[in-house]
Amino acid sequence: MENLKKSEELFAAIFEGSSSQMIVTDREARIIAVNKAKRESGDRPPNIGEVMYVDYAAEHENDMHAVLMACMSSGERIVFPEQLYGDKILSITISPILDGAIIISEDVTARKMMEKALKKSEALMIVIVESARDAIVLINSEGNITLWNQSAERILGYTCEEVLGKNMHMLMIPERHHKAHCKVFDRFIKTGHGSVVNKTTHQNVRHKNGTMINVQISISPINIDGMWCALGILRDTTEQNKLENDLRDAEWKFRALFEKGPIGVAYHQMMYDDNGNPVDYRFIDANCAYIELTGVDPRNKTVREAFPGIENDSFDWIGTYAHVASTGEKKHFEQFLHTNDHWYEVVAYQYKLGHFVTAFIDITGRKKMETELRKSEERYRVLSMTDSLTGLFNRWHFQFELEKEMNRSRRYKQYLSAIMFDIDDFKKFNDEHGHEAGDRVLELVGSVVKKSVRMDDIPCRFGGEEFFIILPMTTQDVARAIAFRISVDLKNLQLNFTDKGISVSCGVVQYDQLEDVDAFVRRVDSLMLFAKRNGKDRICL
Ligand code: GH3
Ligand code: MG
Ligand code: MG
Repeated sequence: MENLKKSEELFAAIFEGSSSQMIVTDREARIIAVNKAKRESGDRPPNIGEVMYVDYAAEHENDMHAVLMACMSSGERIVFPEQLYGDKILSITISPILDGAIIISEDVTARKMMEKALKKSEALMIVIVESARDAIVLINSEGNITLWNQSAERILGYTCEEVLGKNMHMLMIPERHHKAHCKVFDRFIKTGHGSVVNKTTHQNVRHKNGTMINVQISISPINIDGMWCALGILRDTTEQNKLENDLRDAEWKFRALFEKGPIGVAYHQMMYDDNGNPVDYRFIDANCAYIELTGVDPRNKTVREAFPGIENDSFDWIGTYAHVASTGEKKHFEQFLHTNDHWYEVVAYQYKLGHFVTAFIDITGRKKMETELRKSEERYRVLSMTDSLTGLFNRWHFQFELEKEMNRSRRYKQYLSAIMFDIDDFKKFNDEHGHEAGDRVLELVGSVVKKSVRMDDIPCRFGGEEFFIILPMTTQDVARAIAFRISVDLKNLQLNFTDKGISVSCGVVQYDQLEDVDAFVRRVDSLMLFAKRNGKDRICL
């Protein structure tokens, strides 16, 4: 009896004190007791003596009354699946008891939410792990692999199935390093610490195909259920190492060329005034070749400091570099440095905004040769159109000039006249005084003619002792006056070998603008012959 009372008291204490909500019914499903948790739950308060209501689980199509009756008649406990009732997730159990039933419901909303959040973060973690570029590997305290992502498959060659549960050291560490590795790992297992923990190191590990690859590894300790596990993140540095090597290689090659090459190279930076106008530039670096070629070490100097007086040079160096800066184009030019009287061929381009690199080659030798060549070309050109004996234009140049002047006369309706003369009895002169004296006379005739004509007139030696003078913008009358003056001057020539002067037979014509070259020359030639036949020493029009 005493015991019964005690157990009733115990039941009452559990019933009232439980955080689970509880309702006790009799055999007819009438409510006979409701505990504190249920009373204070904020749900509709169930009244003592009422039949266990039906609407409680109506939205889940459970008729609570019917369920209760079925439970009591079968004597078996009914557990509802955890589900949403209103805004709460409840876990409901109905258990038959002596003369009735007890309905226990528990609010599992918080737990359920937590589980959901956990699932979400797990899914997120899987996505991150699988999409990571780096290999992510988890090693448990026995050194066995428990996580192996896709990048680990790609970098190390093994599939996830091949490595899960396998020992990491055996698989990937070269045998001669096993001992040292295991020692470090043992210490880690015990303490979560180690020389390679929480830092980035580089190591060689074995790929599935047997080759060793260099990876960058960072290891973080993770405590799972009181055991230290190692999370390793591995990055394949083969590509990066190659890039670094290539870069170093390129740097060496460039250095060799810069420091030992024959081309002068200088780096400089544009300097601007307050209004943004370029005013000077500063040399940042220059190689030995540059210093040798220019005789100036310009490093850390502005152009004005390095090459005093450069602003007096005709070369517009500021404008040239400003142009390169504004267009981004490479510029090729020749520059004369007055500081050492040398010529340079220069290529300049902007390698980053406002910064230039210039390559210098000394072309002083070439420039000298070019000047010599130009001079000799000029000499040759003059020679090619000049008659060497008289200094007048030759027959070839005469042809060219006559056509040109006839065209001009036609186009601009300008006068054009011509004089043609032949020395009288020249054969006799040669015979009497010798060929050399004849040459001397021809020379003198050349200088008389040259002296007698104007700048624009074109005096030519037509051949032998015949001369032709083209007179642009000249009428026949003026031409005759010129012919007369020449014949007088020739007659008055003082010759050593004879006291007689020279007489000539002369034809003078004015171009009629309908004739071609041959007709024009024929006309003046026939007038000259006419003068010969009619006693020589005369001018015929
Ligand atoms: P004509 O009064 O009819 O013109 O008689 P000519 O003797 O002057 O004419 P011809 O045509 O019979 O002779 C021309 C001479 O001119 C013959 C040639 O020896 C001479 N002659 C032509 N060219 C030169 C030259 O370059 N130097 C010298 N010394 N004589 C030349
Ligand atoms: Mg003659
Ligand atoms: Mg003749």
